[in-house]
Amino acid sequence: MPVRYLKQRSVQGAVDRSREVSETVSGILDHIRSEGDDALRVYSERFDRWSPESFRLSEDEIAACVKRMPASVLNDIRFAQEQIRNFAERQLASLNDIEVESRPGVFLGHRNLPMNSVGCYIPGGKYPLVASAHMGVVTARVAGVKRVIASAPAFQGEVHPAIVAALYLAGADEIYSLGGVQAIGAMALGTQSIAPVDMIVGPGNAFVMEAKRQVFGQVGIDLLAGPTETLIIADDSCDAEMAAADLLGQAEHGPDSPAILLTNSPALAGGIQAEIDRQLARLETRDIAGRAWADYGEIILCDTLDEMVAEADRIASEHVQVLTAEPQYFLDRMTNYGALFLGHRTNVSYGDKVIGTNHTLPTRRAARYTGGLWVGKFIKTCTYQRIETDAASVEIGEYCSRLCALEGFAGHKEQADLRIRRYGKVATEN
Ligand code: NAD
Repeated sequence: MPVRYLKQRSVQGAVDRSREVSETVSGILDHIRSEGDDALRVYSERFDRWSPESFRLSEDEIAACVKRMPASVLNDIRFAQEQIRNFAERQLASLNDIEVESRPGVFLGHRNLPMNSVGCYIPGGKYPLVASAHMGVVTARVAGVKRVIASAPAFQGEVHPAIVAALYLAGADEIYSLGGVQAIGAMALGTQSIAPVDMIVGPGNAFVMEAKRQVFGQVGIDLLAGPTETLIIADDSCDAEMAAADLLGQAEHGPDSPAILLTNSPALAGGIQAEIDRQLARLETRDIAGRAWADYGEIILCDTLDEMVAEADRIASEHVQVLTAEPQYFLDRMTNYGALFLGHRTNVSYGDKVIGTNHTLPTRRAARYTGGLWVGKFIKTCTYQRIETDAASVEIGEYCSRLCALEGFAGHKEQADLRIRRYGKVATEN
């Protein structure tokens, strides 16, 4: 039996909306380019009703935020940051500098160099995403980035103290209270008061993601990490209660957050809607989660595990939970996902908040060509080469000279020929 799409999202709506978002973003970025700080204030007032004397937080303001946090909250933040730091350090250790003698006398190598400055975006429109502070700033610090700055929108009319405390504990050098396109534009393009950075990282809504896409080139970006998506792969070993909780747990991120159930269990596919309705009725965030499920929810029924692997790779979701009897089957075969959550005992919220893997992950099928944020994204792998003998210079030079002639590159050819004349001659004289 073919794969059956029992409930599908409205794709056209998403395309229309992204054109609108793109135009809004380019207008704001142009204004920031020409007017700098004045433009930041215009949009911060317009979208966030936020216009403090300075968008950069002073040391006193930061200290006041930390002081407002109960000790238990600071402990929880420290625990989460420790998990993220530990895993990032282990990942960093896997990135070795190398130097090899590729032919006698020819040495090729690469060095892993951290970027000099990065800007971390911390989302805060609908929820204060404290965890994004750890994901960006802690990881940049582990990588060895020299200047790490961060920006988060004001939340419900004030700087969110827990975000600021998390940024402080993570080791941010500068903290700004700016959101959305204003924040990305300020950090990427620079203004009279904010020095630009070399790369922007962090998740955000459709406006933030589009702003990162549009500044790419002028600065680097980690990846396109837009509205959260989740895919639940489940078989008969998973009950509707768990599948529905895990779908709604991510749908609550925003009304444009896709949540997909992919299953080979007709019973689960048939029973999920009733369970979602039951759980939505008591979920505090039901307005958002319910809209996301109504507009972007999907149910896909397959016959075989291989069909499920193929569908999951086609969808290339940001988060993929595997709630099957043998999750290893999917780890061994799947090729497109932001992060995999294997087995019933874990779930996306563990990864979002605390377990130690990074929660900034590719959306809108970017998982086909990139993984999520990790310490390696803050590092440039830069090559070098050196030739230590005359004979090696002449050997490579002769190949190079002929290959330059083939392409008509006279200047390149002369670079090679000069070495052949100089080091070949010395070798002959010796
Ligand atoms: P946000 O901080 O991303 O966006 C808030 C900002 O959006 C505001 O400060 C405002 O300036 C701007 N904005 C709002 N309406 C606008 C408009 N009409 N025009 C221009 N700018 C506008 O916070 P959010 O909205 O809560 O979104 C957070 C997003 O981050 C969610 O979609 C969530 O799913 C996503 N997320 C993604 C990942 C990932 O790794 N992919 C991880 C965590 C969160």
